[in-house]
Amino acid sequence: MSDGINTRYEPHAVEARRQAAWRERDAFRTPPLLDDQPHLYIKPSAPFTSGNVHIGHVRSYSIGDAYARFRRARGDAVLFAFGFDAFGLPAELGAIAGGEPPSDWVNRCATHMTGQLERLGFSFDWERSFLSSDAIMYRWSQWLFLTLFEAGLVYRGSGNVDWCEHCQTTLASAQVEPGGTCWRCHGPVRLIELPQWYLKISAYVEENDARLGEREASGIWDEVALASQRIVLGRVDGVEVELSTGDGGELAVFTPYADAVGQARFVLISARHRDADVWASEPRVAVELEQLRSGGWERSSREAETIPVIDTGRTLLSPTGEPLPVYITPLVDARFGATAVFGIPTHDRTDEVVARRLGIDFDEAVEAPAAAPSGDASPAVRYKAFDWVVSRQRSWGTPIPIVYCERCGTVPVPREQLPVELPLDIRPTGTGNPLAELAEFVNTSCPTCGEPARRETDTLDCHFDALWLWIPACVPPEAREDSLEDILALADLRHWLPSERLVAGSDSGNFVFDQRTVTKALRDIGPLSFLADGEPFAGCLFHEMVISDGRKMSKHLGNVVDPDELVRRYGADTVRMAVLFAARPQRSLNWSDSAVLRCHRFLNQVWDLTQTTLARTRDGAEEPDKDTSEHLRTKLLTQWCPNAVERTTADMENLEMHSAVRNVMRLFDRIKDFEKKVLAREQRLSRANVDALLDALAILVQLLGPVVPHMAEELWIALGREEHGAQTPWPGVSFEVPA
Ligand SMILES: [Zn+2]
Ligand SMILES: [Zn+2]
Repeated sequence: MSDGINTRYEPHAVEARRQAAWRERDAFRTPPLLDDQPHLYIKPSAPFTSGNVHIGHVRSYSIGDAYARFRRARGDAVLFAFGFDAFGLPAELGAIAGGEPPSDWVNRCATHMTGQLERLGFSFDWERSFLSSDAIMYRWSQWLFLTLFEAGLVYRGSGNVDWCEHCQTTLASAQVEPGGTCWRCHGPVRLIELPQWYLKISAYVEENDARLGEREASGIWDEVALASQRIVLGRVDGVEVELSTGDGGELAVFTPYADAVGQARFVLISARHRDADVWASEPRVAVELEQLRSGGWERSSREAETIPVIDTGRTLLSPTGEPLPVYITPLVDARFGATAVFGIPTHDRTDEVVARRLGIDFDEAVEAPAAAPSGDASPAVRYKAFDWVVSRQRSWGTPIPIVYCERCGTVPVPREQLPVELPLDIRPTGTGNPLAELAEFVNTSCPTCGEPARRETDTLDCHFDALWLWIPACVPPEAREDSLEDILALADLRHWLPSERLVAGSDSGNFVFDQRTVTKALRDIGPLSFLADGEPFAGCLFHEMVISDGRKMSKHLGNVVDPDELVRRYGADTVRMAVLFAARPQRSLNWSDSAVLRCHRFLNQVWDLTQTTLARTRDGAEEPDKDTSEHLRTKLLTQWCPNAVERTTADMENLEMHSAVRNVMRLFDRIKDFEKKVLAREQRLSRANVDALLDALAILVQLLGPVVPHMAEELWIALGREEHGAQTPWPGVSFEVPA
């Protein structure tokens, strides 16, 4: 850079040069396992192979990348890699629209998106990235399915599932929109009964709840992430009373209204309650329950006015000996989970509606005395979180490793026969399940008796793949094809797990909850026994999305911001800096070009001042200064620097990049101010002034390194320092190359 040609900031040239240099020196390769070096695994979200990187991805990865680069700049060993979440509806729909097999579609999308992410300079270890739809990867899902099946945590159930008639598929509850409509087609969703595979998250709901306090105390789970876990849990505190039928039957009945048990007029049981069928033993009731389950009802009819209520014709005795009629109804579930609850019309609006529908008397005026002997009621907790359906009647997903044999029944495919491969030439049409129509897939032989048998043709929901997606980044590429037993025994996993920080969108609450659940299951089963608390993420940052004009971006509204176009106009560094600068992660980023323009102007100024100051040293010349007032000013400048370093370090540690950027901008204002004041007084800069300026600029460049890595490294070199490893070092850190 000594020829003085780099006087103008040309981001595209700078970024191309730096990216070539990073490739050349393999800068982002995961470092070797050294126990005495601080090390951490930063987990970015796994993007759907949707076709394009959007501005929300840019925000997400800019936060994670700045943190990864900051930690590397301090000398820590960082694992930063990810996989594409390539199965599921988004890819299937993209393939249908493109008229090609989904496998071609996802491979094309992944290549394109990888190019976009590389152009932005994100420091992923690309050698470790993967597609969840590769057979070597989806065997993780199959292995996990078998492991959880053997432990009783995956089970074949028959129950009410959300069903979209239009899409001909079941939906995970997370895929049902709040109004009871389908996330994909926004059509009505019905609850019907189908044989399904379930994941038993209920086994770990209490522990997930209990460990939230530890998450909070750690200080590195942010408030959005914690809140998301509470929402998924749906914890309701109350009391439970053991009621008797008077003839030997018993039922634990819950209410959140501890003081109002005496005002209960009836009991409601969820249709999913494990004893619901016991209460429906009378033929008429059994028929009604069967109709309720198979016929379903509009998912949107949440209102207590329309959801079915079945009279069992039986009663339970209240604590005071009054008979309480018992009803079975799905009205319980959304409020308290699959349980039994007191109907207390004076305290609960839904119960009031039910009482009126059924013509049950209740006296609104009377404040009934607390007749319930308090000894009968014990504190109790209910959770709305419940086991979810992991199977789908669709073809673009992991085949479920189960075979049905007439002689042996349901037979798990032996692990050594994994993966059960998904035929790649399938062309989904958007409805039904083409996999079930493919004879060469369906017809197989029984692993146990060898007789002709039939494969399970449901595939796993991509939410199931997400259960393990956070693990394979820890696996060195050369071990990727080993058996999963060998992989799970690798020292690498013990070294990198748990992930020090997950950085993901605020809509990831369900994923994270289920990942926390499965980690605990694998801890208890054995493979992840080294994670004593069963937590995959020591820390968690959930960021909000990028919106435009106060609204979600959508093609329909014409308010989509195209990151490629921004990079073309301003360069990657400006775009990265702008998304960090514009808002703190926990707030929605309402897009405006002003942040981009401001950051672009700032980077131009930093570039220009550094180059002109360097030119002053080349022009040589300025004699040593003797003016004490200038000494003082120089001293002041050198004092501002440690101050800025201290603040920016604290911000970066806390992933408060918006604040870090502001601190760096403030430091730059002071540097400019220094130059301006000296020039106003002296019309020249002395050698000492120039040196002080260059030292301050070097620190500024170091602080900018994690945010605008291309420009920072280019200026770092221009300032006569050495490029090394993944990153310009943080102030005060030196990367001694070991002899
Ligand atoms: Zn639908
Ligand atoms: Zn058999």
